[in-house]
Amino acid sequence: MKLNQFVIIGLGRFGSNLGRELIKLGYEVLGVDRDEEKVQELSNVLTHTVVADATEEEVLRSIGARNFDCGVVAIGDDIQASILATILLKDLGVKKVVAKAVSDLHGRVLERVGVDRIIYPERDMGIRVAHQLVSPNLLDFIELSKQYTIAELSVPQCLSGKSLDDVNPRGRFGCSIVAINKPDGIIIAPVAKDVLLVNDVMVVIGTNQQIEQFQESIEH
Ligand code: ATP
Repeated sequence: MKLNQFVIIGLGRFGSNLGRELIKLGYEVLGVDRDEEKVQELSNVLTHTVVADATEEEVLRSIGARNFDCGVVAIGDDIQASILATILLKDLGVKKVVAKAVSDLHGRVLERVGVDRIIYPERDMGIRVAHQLVSPNLLDFIELSKQYTIAELSVPQCLSGKSLDDVNPRGRFGCSIVAINKPDGIIIAPVAKDVLLVNDVMVVIGTNQQIEQFQESIEH
C-alpha cells in the first residue's frame, strides 16, 4: 500500500521533525496539536495544521482524520492521550496507525489496542548509538532477524588497497560484502578483484557473530 497522506497527532520534537521530513519528501501532512504555539510554529511548513484535542472523537471526525492513509500518534508524556488517540484513529478507519511509545508498558498497551506499528525512538536510538560507540567502523545496521544483520562498515586504513579476494570475509568469517559504496558511486554485488579504499563503505551481510568477528579483525 502506497501511503500519500499523513496525519500527525502531537507536534513535539518527534512529531514536528517527522512532519518536516515527510513534507521534504513530497507528502501531504496534517499536523494536530492541542498547544497553539506548536501549531503556529509549523503552520507554514505542513500542508495543514489544526489546534485540537485528539482525544475527542468529534474533533478527529470533523478534521476528516479517516481520509488519511496513515496516522502517527506522537504523544509521549500523556500516555492516556496517546492510547485514546490511537484507538480513535483505528476506530475511524485509518488504514495504518503508527504510535510512539515511551516505555515497554506503553508499547504493550498500544499493541493491545491494535496499533499497526510501534516506535520506541529513545530506546532504539540508545541501542544504535551503543553499537556505534563500541565499534568505531560501524556506521549503521539493520537487523534482518534475531540472528542476521546488514551492517555498513567504513573501510579502515589496514584494508585500503586490498581486493575482496585479499580480505576474504566470507572465507574467514562467513559474512559477505554485498556492496561497496565509493565516493564516485556504489558497486552492487562486487567481485573478487574489486578493491577497497579508505573512505569507502562496505555493506556486509551475515550473522551477528560473523560480522562482529570481521569487525574485530579490522579494528586492531
Ligand atoms: P517529544 O519528545 O517528541 O518532544 P514527548 O514525548 O515529550 O515529545 P509530549 O511533549 O508529551 O511528548 O507530546 C508531544 C506533543 O503532543 C505536545 O506538543 C503536546 O502538546 C501534544 N499533545 C499531547 N496531548 C495531546 C492531545 N490530547 N491532543 C493533541 N495534542 C496533544
